[in-house]
Amino acid sequence: MNKLSSGELNKHNFSGGPGVLPDVVLEQVREAILVVPEVGLSVLGISHRSDWFAAVVAELEANVLFLLGLPSNYHVLLLQGGATQQFSMVPMTLLRGKEQPAEYMKTGYWGGKVVAEARREGPIDVIWDGHSSGFRRLPRDDELEFRSEAPYVHYVSNETVEGLQFHRVLGRDDVPRICDMSSDFLSAPCKADQFSLIYAHAQKNIGPAGVTVVVIRDELLEGAPRDLPSFLDYRAQIGAHSILNTPPVFSIYVVLLVTRWLRDNVGGLSAMDQINSRKADLLYGALDDSDGFYKGRAAREDRSKMNVVFNLRSNELENRFISTAADAGFSGLSGHRSIGGVRASLYNGMQLRAVGNLVDFMDDFKRCNQ
Ligand SMILES: *Cc1c(COP(=O)(O)O)cnc(C)c1O
Repeated sequence: MNKLSSGELNKHNFSGGPGVLPDVVLEQVREAILVVPEVGLSVLGISHRSDWFAAVVAELEANVLFLLGLPSNYHVLLLQGGATQQFSMVPMTLLRGKEQPAEYMKTGYWGGKVVAEARREGPIDVIWDGHSSGFRRLPRDDELEFRSEAPYVHYVSNETVEGLQFHRVLGRDDVPRICDMSSDFLSAPCKADQFSLIYAHAQKNIGPAGVTVVVIRDELLEGAPRDLPSFLDYRAQIGAHSILNTPPVFSIYVVLLVTRWLRDNVGGLSAMDQINSRKADLLYGALDDSDGFYKGRAAREDRSKMNVVFNLRSNELENRFISTAADAGFSGLSGHRSIGGVRASLYNGMQLRAVGNLVDFMDDFKRCNQ
């Protein structure tokens, strides 16, 4: 099997996260580590209290609102603590002392994690649990009932581990919708104005680890408690434009570069979605045309465009697939440790050509191992 040259390795990183970033962004990052031209200093040594960084934050806030088509009653926050901190920060803000339960869905690995954290803060109702179907599918509309009394409904738009993605907006218009979009944020238009709060850490689709983007509608905070630690208080973070304490300047700068790339090079989220759909169609097509050699894990209608999860006929063959692929230069293909199998993640920075190369590799591997 042909091996990829070392210059090509990064383009063929199919890791579930941290994910691959666009080449043009990495080139700008390399330059910025040495010197940010307009400042004359390394990005790693620029003060978070500088005018330059205030402008970085302001442009990033504007880019996120622009890409999502959101009006000015939404705020963009750049927080630390990952998506995991949002698992707690959301119910701390909206659920403490409430009698009516918030509605959650256990749709997979991350849906389960978020439920466990929310329970510590207040009453929750798990309105759907995918356990009995092995987390191989998502709920249909006729399996879901949303109550108007719920303080909010929370779900995970893309289950990164199982490769399941909602291709519609859930919930009802009179109850705030809250969504963990960590693994598909800015991968496609998402009707963001139907959500009261969206959070997504950067390291799957839009940057390095260290920063989590939170998009929050003003009205959601009207009854929020006043006694939270300021670091965990969305209002305090909004007031400080995310510079409440020393923020991860480097990670935030890289996310800014990714949003510029999405806006100027890609041409917005519809264009990004077209590219992502072609990549996913190519790879799922290869699974479906393999006569069962490669078996997709997720129900067809719930297939994720970001994480393509599949199995081969035995564990042993899966291991050989992953190691042969690694030898050929394709990295990050091991399934999540909780379920095994193979996972190819097709985040925004993954190029169509690299997915084509993976499909060619899979054809070769099948021919040699049938
Ligand atoms: C990876 C992932 C997380 C965990 O995020 P951390 O930043 O590590 O806390 C949460 N939700 C989803 C959907 C993920 O894919």
